Amino acid sequence: MKYYVRTYGCQMNVADSDEMGRHLQARGLIPTEDPEEASVLLVNTCTVRQHAEDRAFSEVGRLKKWKARQSGRKLVVTGCAAERTKAYLENRFPHIDLVIGAKAIEDFGRAVEGLLERRETDEDLEYAIPMSGDRVSAFVTIMRGCNYSCTYCIVPFVRGRESYHPMEHILSEVRDRVAEGAREITLLGQTVNSYHRDGARGRGTDFADLLENAGKVDGVERLRFMSPHPHYMTDRVIDAIAAVPEACEAVHLPVQSGSDAMLKKMLRNYTREEYLALAGKMRKAMPGMTISTDVILGFPGETVEDFRQTLSLIREAQFDWGFIFKYSAREGTPAAAWESYPEGLIEERHQECMAVFEEVSRLKRAALLGTEQEVLIEEENTGRTRTNYKVSVEGNVATGEIVRVRITNSDRATLTAVLADRQKQTEGLEA
Ligand code: SF4
Repeated sequence: MKYYVRTYGCQMNVADSDEMGRHLQARGLIPTEDPEEASVLLVNTCTVRQHAEDRAFSEVGRLKKWKARQSGRKLVVTGCAAERTKAYLENRFPHIDLVIGAKAIEDFGRAVEGLLERRETDEDLEYAIPMSGDRVSAFVTIMRGCNYSCTYCIVPFVRGRESYHPMEHILSEVRDRVAEGAREITLLGQTVNSYHRDGARGRGTDFADLLENAGKVDGVERLRFMSPHPHYMTDRVIDAIAAVPEACEAVHLPVQSGSDAMLKKMLRNYTREEYLALAGKMRKAMPGMTISTDVILGFPGETVEDFRQTLSLIREAQFDWGFIFKYSAREGTPAAAWESYPEGLIEERHQECMAVFEEVSRLKRAALLGTEQEVLIEEENTGRTRTNYKVSVEGNVATGEIVRVRITNSDRATLTAVLADRQKQTEGLEA
């Protein structure tokens, strides 16, 4: 029997989908890329923006026909939108077999057990040997939930307060992913660097300890983490990133706004100046590192001056790239009660902001032209540098291989490169 997973939203959801997939594989199901081959279909939803939720729900609606085409098919809806709207989903779409909210993902194994037991009586069951994953780069969730209350964010409502997985449990998961072929591990959490576990006696463990220990796992070549919160980016954490050889020189540090007034209204718990000081500190500790970010545009009350502050921060912080989110009010959050800007105005700011990000990142990419980089090949001749640039490599390379390349074109976000040794050989022949 096969299963298919459709994932909406962030890396936490991708990691949850992987985890649910492993539960299904442990029960003998095998993954498929084709929903028509699947007997179990999971829709892992996102509720961070209305658009993501709408897309997931219309997909769930369309799946009524998928389910009707073959008897015994099971439809499971999970994730943040499932948490927020469980009752609505069950009433509106009676063809759903199971709704599991984000807070209950850890109970997925048990919940699905019941579902599959019911399924075992069907005649068309065709169990297969469990497959292990073959991803070069794997996610490992280290914590769930968030103790912050950013005024625009639905996450604390749907994922609850922070809870941290025990270090041993995390390290054993890292070892499992490496055994399945991973060479790069991304530690995941909503505010990943707030990770800590209290010790029974004396000092417990924190994110810096975790980085150090995960880096020591045999076979881990690269370590990344998503998404840190500026408040927890302490000197200790920065020192650990700089000291652990496997920790990559790339940090995605969401800033959300360059205006102190907006940061305060968003309850982000840092100022523009503090953020910039942090970026400076990280670059000093790891010269050549990349810093990327997220910004929200059109947050209620964002004046033209606030918006200009965000644009100037992008230039000042010299972000290597950034993701722009057009503000989307989420029912139940404090900001949803505040007056929103019209979509047209938010779109205008979006266009302008994209141009500024591109202006800064184009120069950063241009500086890479002709440099040698180490690329981990993730699939079909495409991989990433340690600094997290995507690179398309010319030549004969295998997935999972780490190669030295020379960047030959940096006009686009995906760089192109040739194998460094190969280029030297060709130059030798031409000389
Ligand atoms: S830190 Fe803020 S934006 Fe991030 S998940 Fe928590 S509440 Fe949401």
